[in-house]
Amino acid sequence: MNSDRTPGFGTNAIHAGQSPDPSTGAIMTPVYMTSTYVQEAPGVNKGYDYSRSHNPTRTALEGNLAALEGGKHGLCFASGMAAIHCVVNLLQSGDHVIAGNDLYGGTYRLLQTLYTKFGMETTFVDMTDLAQLEAAFQSNTKLVMLETPTNPLLRCCDLEAIAGIAKKKGVLTMADNTFATPYLQTPLALGCDIVAHSTTKYLGGHSDVVGGALISNDLELHQKLMHFQNTCGGTPGPMDAFLVLRGTKTLHVRMDRHCDNAMQVAEWLSTHDKVARVIYPGLESHEQHELVKRQMRKGGGMVSVELKASVEQAKQVCSSFEVFSLAESLGGVESLVDHPASMTHASIPVAERRAAGLEDGLIRLSVGIEDGDDLIADLEQAIARSIT
Ligand SMILES: *Cc1c(COP(=O)(O)O)cnc(C)c1O
Repeated sequence: MNSDRTPGFGTNAIHAGQSPDPSTGAIMTPVYMTSTYVQEAPGVNKGYDYSRSHNPTRTALEGNLAALEGGKHGLCFASGMAAIHCVVNLLQSGDHVIAGNDLYGGTYRLLQTLYTKFGMETTFVDMTDLAQLEAAFQSNTKLVMLETPTNPLLRCCDLEAIAGIAKKKGVLTMADNTFATPYLQTPLALGCDIVAHSTTKYLGGHSDVVGGALISNDLELHQKLMHFQNTCGGTPGPMDAFLVLRGTKTLHVRMDRHCDNAMQVAEWLSTHDKVARVIYPGLESHEQHELVKRQMRKGGGMVSVELKASVEQAKQVCSSFEVFSLAESLGGVESLVDHPASMTHASIPVAERRAAGLEDGLIRLSVGIEDGDDLIADLEQAIARSIT
């Protein structure tokens, strides 16, 4: 291969950050189960001194994720929340954050129940409304935090426009790219400063590991984040890093199938008489479909459905599946269903949840990579059994 060639996404997914083990030729990055590293003389080492700070398996994953996001620097964490917490560590007492109003429940909790006690304040805005975003800036605003598509309403916001507004005000933008993955969109290329991930979801992809990551381009920013990573210590063990590294090798292949299945399911649900509304970024009926076409490669693997059902009926549907599993989380090869109001989003106060448009009859599907026809048959029987 011509060495000047920029590798494509699939080639990076499989190779970036990794090279055969120099001592054995092992093609897979070894799981370096070690806490410490022998030094030749005090302070003379091979770049590794203690595994909270650095571990070779983690280094490979950090390089891999950075390449996939089109960024220079990657950092890995023991969970998505540990990664997002690291970003919040950039702030100090008296600082102000602007965050999306239908943010991941755990991020909401971090900002609202933990960081307020350190004198940090957050304004939650509808990120699809740029005028509302602009109006929320204060002289002490230091960070904009957003997700797109959001969870669970799958609203999409304009990464380039938001990052541009924040940049003009000298404010950092963090985009949580967990739902889209770098295969579908790359926020750094659109001007965001930090990309956050829960690698627990699509990047790991097999529902067998919890992890998180941050990717950035600015060396000074990266070094600050790395300092917090090492200081707070929320780093992943080598086995966890290995599992995510294994997952990313098939990210592009899995995402194509997730997206194709999700589209098939969304189109089928759109014609169902017990369905009030299907929310899927890939559908032309999606509120921000024009933006989606511009910003994302495909519509993603998540589909939200507002059923013409009472809370009890919606819960009954969730309990009636044979292929879909009723569980929190998302992004694994197997299809999952979630009832946000009683599960993932239960920690958001009811009034705020409803104000954000999150209805009690809403169910969220993480469409897996099984056969699409089997998923549709399962939806058909679960709805028929539960809503009469
Ligand atoms: C799951 C998730 C998180 C939190 O990640 P954990 O790995 O569970 O700590 C953050 N953001 C989004 C969008 C998520 O889906």
